[in-house]
Amino acid sequence: MESEKRQLHLFIFPYMAAGHMIPAIDMAKLFASRGLRITIITTPLNASSILKTVEKSKILGLKMDMLIIEFPAEQVGLPKGSESYHLATAPDLRMKFLEAITLLRQPLEELVQDYCPDCLITSALFPWTTDVARRFGIPRLIFHATSSFSICASECLRLYEPYKKVSSDSEPFILPNFPDEIKLTRNQLPDFVTQDIETDVGKLIRQVIKAELTSDGAVFNSFYDLEPAYADYYKKVLGRKAWHIGPVSLCNKESEDKARRGKEASVHGHECLKWLDSKKPDSVVYVCFGSMANFNDSQLMEIAMGLEASQQQFIWVVKREKTQGTKDEWLPEEFEKRVEGKGLIIRGWAPQLLILDHEAVGGFVTHCGWNSTLEGVVAGVPMVTWPVSAEQFYNEKLVTQILKIGVGVGAQQWVRFLGDSIGKEAIEKALIRVMVGEEAEEMRSRARELMKMAKSSAEGGGSSYSDLNALIEDLSSHAIAGEATENN
Ligand code: UDP
Repeated sequence: MESEKRQLHLFIFPYMAAGHMIPAIDMAKLFASRGLRITIITTPLNASSILKTVEKSKILGLKMDMLIIEFPAEQVGLPKGSESYHLATAPDLRMKFLEAITLLRQPLEELVQDYCPDCLITSALFPWTTDVARRFGIPRLIFHATSSFSICASECLRLYEPYKKVSSDSEPFILPNFPDEIKLTRNQLPDFVTQDIETDVGKLIRQVIKAELTSDGAVFNSFYDLEPAYADYYKKVLGRKAWHIGPVSLCNKESEDKARRGKEASVHGHECLKWLDSKKPDSVVYVCFGSMANFNDSQLMEIAMGLEASQQQFIWVVKREKTQGTKDEWLPEEFEKRVEGKGLIIRGWAPQLLILDHEAVGGFVTHCGWNSTLEGVVAGVPMVTWPVSAEQFYNEKLVTQILKIGVGVGAQQWVRFLGDSIGKEAIEKALIRVMVGEEAEEMRSRARELMKMAKSSAEGGGSSYSDLNALIEDLSSHAIAGEATENN
C-alpha cells in the first residue's frame, strides 16, 4: 500500500535519433498515465521536436517535464546543430558524435544531483549512465528500442561467433543454441561485428554489452506474445531482468498525437487520409524506410519502376525535397503524371501511424527498423522486408520466418544508411506477393491476429499492462528501501 502513495520520479534519457526519441516519448507518456512523474532529458534541438507533446501532456494533468542539456557539437568539431545521429553520415562525423555523447555525462550527473530522481531509464547506447546511477544509488534501466529477438541474436553471435566458421561472406550459418533455426550470412551482419580492427562503434558496443550486464534490467518496446521464446531467452538463458511493455505507440489515441510523432509531417495528415478514404480496404501499399536510410537516385528509380510495374496503389515516402522548376532525377519521365490518383509521394516526413492505421492500407514495405516493424504489427498488415543496416536483418527474420507475416525483397548486404541494391523486378514481385493472392491473404490473417494480440496486451490484464505494473512495483520497492537506508 505504501508504494501507491509515493510518486516515483523517473528520468528518461533517449538517444538522439528519431527511432529512439519517438518510442521513448511514447514510453514517457505511458508511465505518466500511470501517475508517475517523468522528466525527459534531451538537447535543445531534440527538445523542440517534443515540446508540443510535453505541453499537451501537462495540460492533460500528466506530470511530464523536460530538462535540456547542451549538446557539445562544436566542442568536438561537429557543425552546430548536429544533434541527431542521422546527420553523422561519414565515419569521422560518427566518431565525433560519439565523443560528444560521452561529454553529456557531467551535465547528466549535475541534473541527477539536483533533482534526485528514483531511476534512470536510458538508451542502451549510453553505457556510462549505469555508473551515474550507481554513484547516486538509484537503478539504471536500459530502454531497448528494438526486439528481444534482435538482442538475443546479437548476444548469440557474440557468444558463439558462428560467422567465423564459414568460408565466405555469403555462406549461411545457423545461430547456435537458438530457439528457432535462423540462418544469416556475414554480409548481413553489422560491420562492427565482423571487422577485426577496433572501430569506435565496436568499442562502444562492447561498453554497451558490459553495462547491460551490470544494469538493473531492460525495458522493451515489445509484447510477450509477439516473441515469447525470445522474451524468455533474454530472461532465462541470458539471465537478465526485463519488462515487455509495448507496443508503446498504442498510447497515442488521438489523430493529433499520432500525426505529431517525431517531426511535423510534410503533408497535412488530413490530406493523405482524404486520399486514403477514397480507396478500398487493403488496396494501398505504404512504402517507407524510417528516419535514417537514405537511398541514392538509382535505387529510388528502381523503386519507382517496381511500384509502377506491380500495378499496386501506393504511398511512398522519399527523403527528397521538391525543387521548383527542376526535374526529379530519381523519378522516371512523367512518373507522377502516369500514377496520378494511384500513387502518392510524400517528400520528407510522413504521419506514419495515421497512414498505417487506415483501413485502405493493406501492405507495408519496411526497412525493418523496430518501431516501423512493430507499428506494422499493430496495424495488422503484411510486410515486404527490406533491411538496410543496424539490427534490421535480424528483425527481418522475425517477421518472415517466425511470425510469417512478410516476404523479403532479397536484401543480402548490410550497408549503413544505403543498403543493398535491389532491382525493380524483385520489388515488383515482392509487392505482388504481399498484396495479391492466397499467400497475401494468409499473411494478412496472421497479421490481423497479431494486431489483436498487440492491442489486448496493452489493455488492463494484458501482458504489457501487467509487466508495466510489475516494473512500477519494483521501482517503488527500490525507492522505499533507499529511503529507509537513508533514514537509518
Ligand atoms: N517515421 C515517421 N514518418 C516518417 C519516417 C519515420 O513517423 O516519414 C517514424 C516511424 O513511425 C517510426 C520511426 O519514425 O516510429 C522510425 O523508427 P524505426 O525504428 O522504424 O527506424 P529508424 O528510423 O530508427 O531506422
